[in-house]
Amino acid sequence: MEYKGKRILVLGAGRSGIGAAHVLGLLGAKVVLNDYKTVNLTAAEQQLLAEGKVTVITGRQDIDLLTDVDRIVVSPGIALTIPILVEAKQRGLDIVGEVEVAYDISKAPILGVTGTNGKTTTTTLLAEVMAQTGKPIKVGGNIGSSLSEAAYEISRDGYLVAELSSYQLETVKTFQPLGAIVLNITPDHLQRHKTMAAYQAAKENIFAHQQASDRTVLNLDDESVASMKKRVPGKVLCISQDHSVTDGAYFENGQCYAVRGGVAEFVINTAEIHLPGRHNIENILAVIALAYDLGVTAEQIHAVIAQFKGVEHRLEPVAEIAGAMYFNDSKATNTDSAIKAIEAFTAPIILLAGGHDKLTDLTEFMALVKTRVRDLILMGEAAQRFAEAAKAAGVTNIYQVRSMAEAVAKGYELAKAGDVVLLSPACSSFDWYHCFEERGDDFKNEVQALKTLVEGKVEQKGSLS
Ligand code: ADP
Repeated sequence: MEYKGKRILVLGAGRSGIGAAHVLGLLGAKVVLNDYKTVNLTAAEQQLLAEGKVTVITGRQDIDLLTDVDRIVVSPGIALTIPILVEAKQRGLDIVGEVEVAYDISKAPILGVTGTNGKTTTTTLLAEVMAQTGKPIKVGGNIGSSLSEAAYEISRDGYLVAELSSYQLETVKTFQPLGAIVLNITPDHLQRHKTMAAYQAAKENIFAHQQASDRTVLNLDDESVASMKKRVPGKVLCISQDHSVTDGAYFENGQCYAVRGGVAEFVINTAEIHLPGRHNIENILAVIALAYDLGVTAEQIHAVIAQFKGVEHRLEPVAEIAGAMYFNDSKATNTDSAIKAIEAFTAPIILLAGGHDKLTDLTEFMALVKTRVRDLILMGEAAQRFAEAAKAAGVTNIYQVRSMAEAVAKGYELAKAGDVVLLSPACSSFDWYHCFEERGDDFKNEVQALKTLVEGKVEQKGSLS
């Protein structure tokens, strides 16, 4: 769409809505930014909106906002069932998400990453690997800045690397990335999508409008993702840790290979990879497959992966105290990612879990906790339900705590040298915190305070003797 002179209604005054309104304004559209809640915009946000000559209306959402609009841009947090959107649909108005806007305005090709888990890790690594080409790179979407702002800034000769949630993909129309990655699909966000089929359909929008010259990486080890193969219009690149592939990347005997036309080339072995766990091999293989197909050499890919230490709050090593390692995996907001975290370790685990309860089924999670976790420390709103499910699965060492400080102290009390103390909550953070970052920071601060205390005591003992 050519936006100059068009009347655009942007719904949702969050990061992506503000970003879209700003750039659409700069492109000469007449933009109204609306949020039904009263929103306190920061000075920087006000400045951006002023630059785009955006009219801001918050605290109400009258139907007359729809009068004469050419397009409605919806933020990913907004359900398509709210009254104004139902009315807009009835009137046959054009409704798209912010990702569609980004696609419209980006002059550079887009590389998109989706999946239930692993998006941020994969997107971050992909951007670092693609930077090896020497071309300009911008990252956006579910990560960092809004995708439309990144799209506005990227030059024609670069790449726009996009982290895409199912909510963002639900509202695309013609979005056609040059490269797409689909990592995995497990039950999450079912409150909004209602069925797994709808959730999967939203994810498939990442490749739905691709053409033969585009490519999509599919993880063959995930049944739902593997089943998409027949629906991908472009070239399919496969990844697997269970068998070799003819185009893409695979893992065998501790080594990652890139493959083109059945010819495999060694990229890296596990001894050089800093990210723990099989799930991170999945993320790494996806990056290898796409980057290699786009012409990045095995040596260049190797160099980046060998120095990549992962992303904060994702199985992040925090400290070693009295021989036990403390890990912050606050981003594990569902059982699947917590399962992956537990599976990443062979040492005995003291697991700190719980938070805002997503009410998902706990059978598989607790079965793993029973076999791999020695002590289970539970907190937050979900603590009671988790404790009951753990007991039902035969877990015996269960402790309930009322704060993060108490959780860390309990973990220390139970830990022996060689153990892993792991915060991997399997819940979102909204009972006690604004976001998972705040929860992870709280955990890290408590662990660091504990370390100072413990080491102080050890030193004191040393000086007395
Ligand atoms: P997302 O952006 O999709 O939430 P992240 O990279 O932020 O993904 O990781 C979220 C959580 O999922 C972390 O706890 C991380 O350790 C875990 N995780 C990372 N990659 C995967 C994967 N491929 N499969 C399952 N879990 C993963």
